[in-house]
Amino acid sequence: MDFIPYATQSINEDDLAAVREALTSGWLTQGPAVPRFEQAFAALHSVAHAVAVSNATAGLHIACLALGAGPGKTVWTSPNSFVASANCALYCGAGVDFVDIDPVTRNISLTELTAKLEQAERNGRLPAIVIPVHFGGLACDLVPMRTLADRYGFKILEDASHAVGARYNGQPIGSRYADASVFSFHPVKIVTTGEGGMVTTQDAALARRLQLLRSHGITRETSEMQHPDTGAWHYEQHSLGFNYRMTDIQAALGRSQLQRIDGFHAARERLAERYDQLLAGLPLQRPARVPAPGSTARSSWHLYVVEVVPGPGVADRATVFARLREAGIGVNVHYEPIPLQPYYRGLGFRPGQFPAAEAFASQALSIPLYPSLTEAQQDCVVGVLKKALAG
Ligand SMILES: *Cc1c(COP(=O)(O)O)cnc(C)c1O
Repeated sequence: MDFIPYATQSINEDDLAAVREALTSGWLTQGPAVPRFEQAFAALHSVAHAVAVSNATAGLHIACLALGAGPGKTVWTSPNSFVASANCALYCGAGVDFVDIDPVTRNISLTELTAKLEQAERNGRLPAIVIPVHFGGLACDLVPMRTLADRYGFKILEDASHAVGARYNGQPIGSRYADASVFSFHPVKIVTTGEGGMVTTQDAALARRLQLLRSHGITRETSEMQHPDTGAWHYEQHSLGFNYRMTDIQAALGRSQLQRIDGFHAARERLAERYDQLLAGLPLQRPARVPAPGSTARSSWHLYVVEVVPGPGVADRATVFARLREAGIGVNVHYEPIPLQPYYRGLGFRPGQFPAAEAFASQALSIPLYPSLTEAQQDCVVGVLKKALAG
């Protein structure tokens, strides 16, 4: 049997044609493909503004800056995420802290968030920004989070890297409840541009700040000039920006991929439902379907993560993981808690601070899920997993 990865991209002839067209269009970067991709992405997510960037990490960085992160400010995020969700605060000179997860949804716990906010208010150390992560593509419970944001005065920056096209209470993820949202187009994610990311927001002024920050802080808009216009060569740098631009080649691929997104979602959902059925009765905790009782969601199913529930006659997660890898199945673990990374321990974080995230991380196993995974391959994964679970 060939190696089955936990995730992989899907590239078809239309994608190839789109990239070929971009390569011969005369614009490799800073041409028309980027705004076209931005418009298509904004329409899909029912949001006013979309700003394409070189990757989601860059998007998180400039979104943090544009939302006011900096020295003396603190940013909170989920310990159950990729390190970029926290690193972005540190890039800005802000402090970072974590809010433990709900063991069922694996997203930031609203109970924990509420308690931590009450304490932070007493200590005068409220966060400037909270970065919820829609883990695996299942939305966080954003309505109560928005209420807390308004009550305590913090911004919500969604790390929606897993959640392209995901829905919450019938609406697409993408800045309905958040101040800004960041999406990733890494090949393992829902749609890909190779490397790439997108920041969305309803706020026109914020979108403009993001456009400037992704391209050196430079403007060429006559209406924005602070000095007299000396000629057609004149441009001005107004802030300390970066080169975080997406190329036209990437944007052309992204727009082609977006046209295929309904098929991607349908395939992922069908496979996830099939896993639910095939894995029922095994000593595994399967992914939740709703962010909280009374709210609804359609997951984008970036990941299908089971937890190996310890018990008599059940092999431990490390053993199950090793047996699957040995059989050519590319299982993975999402995520070892960010605060337990050596770098974050160097900042003072310690085991025991985020017990739900740590417990989850000790049992989590991401099994293969991507649009081109066949039912035969899925049956094979399930067969190997069943055997691997036997203690
Ligand atoms: C993939 C990912 C990122 C980083 O995305 P890049 O586009 O690779 O920079 C950030 N946060 C989460 C939760 C991710 O899964």
